[in-house]
Amino acid sequence: MRKSALCWINGQLIPASEASISVFDHGLLYGDGIFEGIRFYNNHAFQLAAHLTRLADSAAAICLLIPYSQEQLTQAVTELVEIFPDSTGYLRLIVTRGTGPLGLNPDSCTQPTVLIIADHLLMVNQNQRQQGIRLMIASTRRTPTDSLDGRIKSLNYLNNILARIEANQAGFDDAILLNQSGFVTEASAANLFIARDGHLYTPHTADGALQGITREIVIKLASEQTLPVSETALTAYDMYTADECFLTGTGAELIAVREVDGRLLRQCPGPVLTTLTRLFTELIHRQTS
Ligand code: PMP
Repeated sequence: MRKSALCWINGQLIPASEASISVFDHGLLYGDGIFEGIRFYNNHAFQLAAHLTRLADSAAAICLLIPYSQEQLTQAVTELVEIFPDSTGYLRLIVTRGTGPLGLNPDSCTQPTVLIIADHLLMVNQNQRQQGIRLMIASTRRTPTDSLDGRIKSLNYLNNILARIEANQAGFDDAILLNQSGFVTEASAANLFIARDGHLYTPHTADGALQGITREIVIKLASEQTLPVSETALTAYDMYTADECFLTGTGAELIAVREVDGRLLRQCPGPVLTTLTRLFTELIHRQTS
């Protein structure tokens, strides 16, 4: 945490270093809660409405009533971004079940905890951004969607973290998680695309991928360029034989993948990613100026 980090917690704005939550918060005790990661550029939160909609959907899916309206959360985000010392940064909006006695019964928590942290985020370094990243396919499989729907952006990230630990230990930058059927879902904290013969492919959310907001934007930008996009089942073989591969996410933005399991991809970054990165940057500029 940097000195400049700020926090809005249950309606109060304070330096993040002074913000605290109870040890009895069920977000901490059980991972019972949801979150959003939002970037801001030029003092404007990017895709805020889409993030608040997904937060509301995650809340509905886990029977969590957010005690603030979309308008109040928009107001809180706007205030936080305005007073943050830099015009560019990252917001983490978290809603937990709130404090309650030990024991996981959510009905024992009466008031959800809502907090928004404003800070910087460096998910990949300059070298990785320029050269592309190296991925491995993890042996850790994605939690099945009939156990926990991948569209719920919950505070339970252990599945993703276990895959990332595998990547760290093997000397890779990140991991790809397959689902129980062996189909590609996503990376540990980003969606995944491949390009092959001028066609873009990404796993379907039903296979276990988060319905990423950056993913949706990339699909739309590609379609507008008459670049065909398919949401489809992908296997390790499709990764190894792709012309290009890249990750998308709020933290990641668009990152080229250089190799998968030691197989060098044909193009990194290739023409598809180069075009989409330009269009994405232009969109950010248009929407945040
Ligand atoms: N998948 C996972 C598991 C994520 O945590 C994220 C976001 N951090 C994404 C995909 C990308 O989603 P978005 O583009 O909405 O940030």
